[in-house]
Amino acid sequence: LELPELNVFNDLESEVRSYCRNFQTVFEKAKNAQLWDRNGNKYIDFFAGAGALNYGHNNEQIREKLIDYMMQDGITHSLDMATNAKETFLTQFQEVILKPRGWNHKVMFPGPTGTNAVEAALKIARKVTGRSTILSFTNAFHGMTLGSLAVTGNSFKREGAGIALTHSVFMPYDGYYGDDVDTLAYIKKLLDDPGSGVPIPAAVIVEALQGEGGLNSASRDWLKGLEQLCKERDILLILDDVQMGCGRTGPFFSFDDAGIEPDIICLSKSIGGFGLPMAITLLKPEIDVWEPGEHNGTFRGNNLGFIAATEALNYWKTKDFQLDVEIREKIIRKVLEDIPVKYPEFRGETRGRGLIQGFAFERQELAGRLSEIAFDHGLIMETSGPHSEVAKLMPPLTIELDTLKEGLKVLERSLEQLSA
Ligand code: PMP
Repeated sequence: LELPELNVFNDLESEVRSYCRNFQTVFEKAKNAQLWDRNGNKYIDFFAGAGALNYGHNNEQIREKLIDYMMQDGITHSLDMATNAKETFLTQFQEVILKPRGWNHKVMFPGPTGTNAVEAALKIARKVTGRSTILSFTNAFHGMTLGSLAVTGNSFKREGAGIALTHSVFMPYDGYYGDDVDTLAYIKKLLDDPGSGVPIPAAVIVEALQGEGGLNSASRDWLKGLEQLCKERDILLILDDVQMGCGRTGPFFSFDDAGIEPDIICLSKSIGGFGLPMAITLLKPEIDVWEPGEHNGTFRGNNLGFIAATEALNYWKTKDFQLDVEIREKIIRKVLEDIPVKYPEFRGETRGRGLIQGFAFERQELAGRLSEIAFDHGLIMETSGPHSEVAKLMPPLTIELDTLKEGLKVLERSLEQLSA
């Protein structure tokens, strides 16, 4: 590939940027599951804005609504004012998401991003319970601001804070010690033993499937047991569905099949529908205790976000997403499961479900190499896990079957090159 120069970025932008170091080009255009760079090279997108583009780049149905709204001088920014756009979103969210589940959670707009949703969740859980500790899990990822980083397990990311991150305890996630250890029993014993040094936390925060932490899945029974454990001890359950929500695993929430009803739910990324920054924190009504103004934020009244999110829910309601995801899930699973069969030198395991799956390489450095080779062949994919050992595939849910198959062919070619 002939690639454009990155001098402007190298000279002017902070060194902290990471993704562009893997994808060394200047991107210009995107449509559904494909991107084009400035030189006209095409890339297939198996990254989907880290989960923010479940409905594809430039989704036409959503774009039309946004353009119409702007052409009618619709208000874009409104702080906490009541607007048509917000009213429509709230009603639609209640109709499509809350009512079918029999839930009556309040919708809070905590600010524009995932970490805002998590910060609000942690803060209100502490206010409600009067306790300060939050129980989190090995390999958890919840965001990069101080509160959410304190419940994130990755030590490299934690060191970015420059201070001690406190008021969190980490427990083993489901499967952390393999199948033989009952991690819930382990946690219960520590919580109930006054000699353990583990305080009763304000809340437990958990992902049903850990996106950044290596595509580790919690079983339904484990999630159900965790909910029970929390209830019995008056601990709030926070479910962080920032990356796995909005259909990524098939159902709207990644924990739907566990039949749990978390006290607090964090959503962001694809809730904005169009890659627009938006986040919500769902609170059971009895937890909605903040006085007006006790928690606020300038950009939580993002009306373009409401317009896009409303249409995304419309889109969700009218399309049979679950079936689309299942069909695509199977195609990807087959390719991943074949890796160690075709290339015995690549030992490892297939992880994830729905349209977030990956291959965890025993030789950890191979995942990063694979991502580099794939980029050279026009496929965008990232790694995940504490050693970046998992090659992670998460295309938009709307990816056309042909594009998906084309992307997987590129993956196969890249694997072949990796093995050579
Ligand atoms: N929680 C989870 C589970 C995430 O995957 C992420 C982002 N990768 C966040 C929170 C933080 O979201 P944001 O980057 O928008 O702050």
